Order: sequence, then C-alpha cells, then structure tokens
Amino acid sequence: MAPKNPFNNAKKQLDKAVPFLASYYPDQKRFRKAISLLKKPQRLHKKRLIVKMDKGKKKTFLAIRSQHNDARGPFKGGIRFHPQVTEDEVKALSFWMSIKTAVAGIPYGGAKGGIVVDPKKLSKGELSRLSKSYAQFLAPYIGPFKDVPAPDVNTNAQIMSWMLESYEKKVGTQAPATFTGKPIELGGSLGREEATGQGGLFVLLAYLKAKRRRIKDTKIAVEGFGNVGYWFAELASREKMKVVAVSDSSGTTYDSKGLNIKKLKQEKEKYGSFKEVINLSGKKYKFIEGKELIKLDIDVLVPAALENSITKDNAKDIKAKAILELANGPLTPEADEILKNKKIDVIPDVLANSGGVTVSYFEWAQNLQGYPWTKTQVNKKLKPIMQKSFAEIHRISEEKSVTYREAAFIMAVKKIIDAMMLRGRV
Ligand code: NAD
Repeated sequence: MAPKNPFNNAKKQLDKAVPFLASYYPDQKRFRKAISLLKKPQRLHKKRLIVKMDKGKKKTFLAIRSQHNDARGPFKGGIRFHPQVTEDEVKALSFWMSIKTAVAGIPYGGAKGGIVVDPKKLSKGELSRLSKSYAQFLAPYIGPFKDVPAPDVNTNAQIMSWMLESYEKKVGTQAPATFTGKPIELGGSLGREEATGQGGLFVLLAYLKAKRRRIKDTKIAVEGFGNVGYWFAELASREKMKVVAVSDSSGTTYDSKGLNIKKLKQEKEKYGSFKEVINLSGKKYKFIEGKELIKLDIDVLVPAALENSITKDNAKDIKAKAILELANGPLTPEADEILKNKKIDVIPDVLANSGGVTVSYFEWAQNLQGYPWTKTQVNKKLKPIMQKSFAEIHRISEEKSVTYREAAFIMAVKKIIDAMMLRGRV
C-alpha cells in the first residue's frame, strides 16, 4: 500500500510543476486559484455500509469515493477493497487518475474508491452484498456522464457485474457505461485483459526509438507475473526482446538467453509459484532471490507488482538504463531522486500503464454506441494514443530538461487547468 499520507506526496508533485506552468497564465491569481483547487478533491463521499454476514450478524465497513476533478470529462477511477485503504490514499489515487487521464488525452477526470475490508475473509455472498451496497450508496453520484468506476486492487469483473446490477435497479434503467472492466457478456471490451501490458510495450517501443536504441535483444527483467507483468513479458518477447528474468512473490526465474514466457505461464499455472516451478520442473530454470532481480545487468527494469518496491535502500543497486513503471507507484520519491541523479530514465506509471484506462474508455465508448469492437480495432486505436502521449512527454522533457515524470505532470496539469479556465471555474 502507499506510504504514510500519500496525498501530501501528490500535492508535492503538483507544487513541483507550478514553476514550469506559471508563465503560461498571464492572470496569476486565476492560476494560483486553480492550483489550490487541485489540492483537494471536488467531492468526497464517505459512508459506513452495514452488511449482513452469513451467520446473521451485521458488520460495518467504511466506504469512500473521492471525485478529484471533472473539468475534462466524467470522473473516472477504480475501486479497491483492502484493509489498509485510507481517506488520504483514496484522495491521492483520485488525483493521480486526473493526471493519468489527462496524460492519455482521454475525455475523463479522475476519481478513486475504496472500502476498508479484507475481501479474502468474506464469503462470495458477503462480497456480493458489500459490493451491491457500495453501488447503492454511490448511485446518486455515479453514471455514464458523472463518474465511471472500474476494478482496482482486489476487485474484478464479477464485482463490477454485481455493482452494475445494483446501480441499474436503483436508477431503473440499463446503464452499462456506468462501470468499466465488466465481463464481455455484460459489455466488457475485447483486449482489456492485455491492455495495460500492451500499452506499456507501445510506450517502451516509442522510447527505444526516440533514444535510437535497438529493440531486438533488449534485455528486460519484470517484477510481478500477474495480469500486467505476464502480458507485458509475453508481448515483449513477441517483439524479439529478451525477457531474462521474471518474479512473483515466491522468487525470480532467470535465463540469460531469454525465458519462454508462454511456457513459464503454463508451468506456473501447473505448479502454483515460481519457487515450485523451479523445484518441480526438473531444474530447467535458474532461481535467484526475488530481491536480486532489480540488481541484474539489463537494459530495462519493469516493476509490475507492488507499490513502493523500489526505495532509497535498493535504488542505488539498479544497473538498468531505464525503468518502465507498469505498477502504480512502484518508486518511492527518494528512489526517484536517486535514479534522477544516476541518469536512469524512469517512464512514469501515469504514462506507462495508461493503456488500462484507455481501453476502459474504449469500453465506455462501445457501451454508449451499443456497438462492440473487435480486438484488432481496440489495439489499432490504442497504439497511436500511447505513442502520442509518449511523444508529447518526451518533447517536454527535452525542452525543459526535466524527467519524464515531471514532464507528464506539467503536461497533465496544464490540460486540466485550461479546462477549468474554459469552464469559468476559476
Ligand atoms: P495481479 O494481482 O494480477 O499481479 C500481481 C503480481 O505481483 C503477482 O504475480 C504476484 O505474485 C506479484 N508479486 C506480489 N508481491 C511480489 C513481490 N514481492 N515480488 C515480486 N512479485 C510480487 O495484479 P496486476 O493487475 O498485474 O497489477 C499489478 C500492478 O499494476 C499494480 O500496481 C496495479 O495497480 C497496476 N496496474 C494494473 C492495471 C491493470 O490493468 N491490471 C492497470 C494499471 C496499473
């Protein structure tokens, strides 16, 4: 989970962009007002939900939705179920969603939701009742043109289906475009499963091209082998890059000649974890401790697992030339500073993993049209969006001699403030 008071961290990132933006706005009073408005969500909804447990008792769960900014379009952002969810974390994540949708140039604002709960301790029935109760509570504040939630940590297509059903009952109409990340049967989009990995790969290819580096045999290590890590590793190896190491929470598999990702996935499904794959598959893979992965002599390191996996304690050991942040917030601010000094390029999460929210936007657009697209159509539309976002951020980073993260914030905050000013909010 995010560090203590991540919302303060988000506000610091905003403050860093201010000196680069001030000169665009002759009316400094309006500009300062806009910045101060971005330092709090437009609306924060909180409620203690009462849910009947299987054994008859009632339990309460704190539910939150932070609607950060909707100047560029309806609020958009996932819902996480986690025991460590806090108001400040949800507020910070909603701010980063405003940044991410602006970076991707899709017509949304930013929001985030959360419930303080350990979903692993609930039965399926209890989880369904909690999800439906959350949708009932949020019903007046969400909708296709108000706020469009999606899955996040510990929530999935099934949970979106329960929420959709509950919301539609409350408002008395079908409204599939209210939630994204739905199953295909209820209006989900083809290509959503691999979207984040695919989008990250499009960005990496654009980066290597801009830096005039070779794509073939680029040596990559991927931390995490879930939805994002697996798809990125698989699609990168199809581009003839060499994925030499991948890890899960049990450890890292390594092969200097490049791993066969598809085969490794089948073996992980068969044996459970990499540790077991290595123990039981006839020793055909090399094992290294999980924490050794980031020290490997590679070209690109791809954190695709947890928040804060790269800190001031291990950032100094990184030998990779670039980091592609597919996880949300994998670098602490101290690690970011160390890597800046080491001149290691960090392609930030708000750009690198925005393929996910972009295909969510496609899902919303398909639902509004009532007309599903093919997977080929989805990928054809995703590629230019990712390439354009990278090109703009690369240009700003060169022009202003700032990191890619700083450039992304400058670009995104400017788009949001411009929209606020056009609407006359400031
Ligand atoms: P997931 O639950 O499918 O996979 C997480 C993976 O991380 C698992 O393989 C797990 O074993 C591994 N892991 C856990 N602890 C680890 C450790 N200490 N070392 C190495 N690996 C470890 O999750 P996901 O959907 O792939 O999401 C991964 C990250 O990407 C998260 O930060 C998420 O917020 C972010 N993200 C996901 C999407 C998406 O579309 N799924 C979109 C944007 C951002």
